[in-house]
Amino acid sequence: MSGHAGAVSQLVDRLSQLPGIGRKSAERLAFHLLRVREDEALALSDAIRRVRTDVRYCADCYNLSEKELCQICADPKRDRTRLCVVEQPRDLLSLEASGAYKGLYHVLLGRIAPLDGVTPDQLTIDSLVDRVRTGNFSEIIMATNPTVEGDGTSLYLSNQLGEFPVEITRLARGITAGSVLEYANREIIADALTGRQKL
Ligand SMILES: [Zn+2]
Repeated sequence: MSGHAGAVSQLVDRLSQLPGIGRKSAERLAFHLLRVREDEALALSDAIRRVRTDVRYCADCYNLSEKELCQICADPKRDRTRLCVVEQPRDLLSLEASGAYKGLYHVLLGRIAPLDGVTPDQLTIDSLVDRVRTGNFSEIIMATNPTVEGDGTSLYLSNQLGEFPVEITRLARGITAGSVLEYANREIIADALTGRQKL
């Protein structure tokens, strides 16, 4: 963007690199930040700094956490016989929002996608297999997204976990094939959990 001071132009550049933010929105946000009170604008940069320095992955499940264990893993009331496998922390949030699940999670941090160069070793699969080997799980629920890659990932995992005495299920297909967990509403997710089927 020409005609703006260097700092403004730099902020607009940065903002427009964020997903879903076009050039026009970036300009709007930049001018908004110039207009609001200074402490309000700086609170945003603080929040960004904190999220990058204080937030890490839970040592057990790879959910986002500010401590070694996330709130779910640290909660003694969770059902430790059930483990729900999701692709991303935001999928975990969608399942939690449904209120229909009280077990533990495992976040893969992606899905197997050979065309994008994502191979099993880049995900948290080794750690999942370890947890199933050493834990007391009776059921592993595959809650990867109902996409070709999500389904392929589930299948790969159920093969990897085949040697353990656990039941492997997957979410019912209330969630339309091709849609993603992140955008499904609570009722649909709750239904998908209740109606889960043997994989
Ligand atoms: Zn955790």
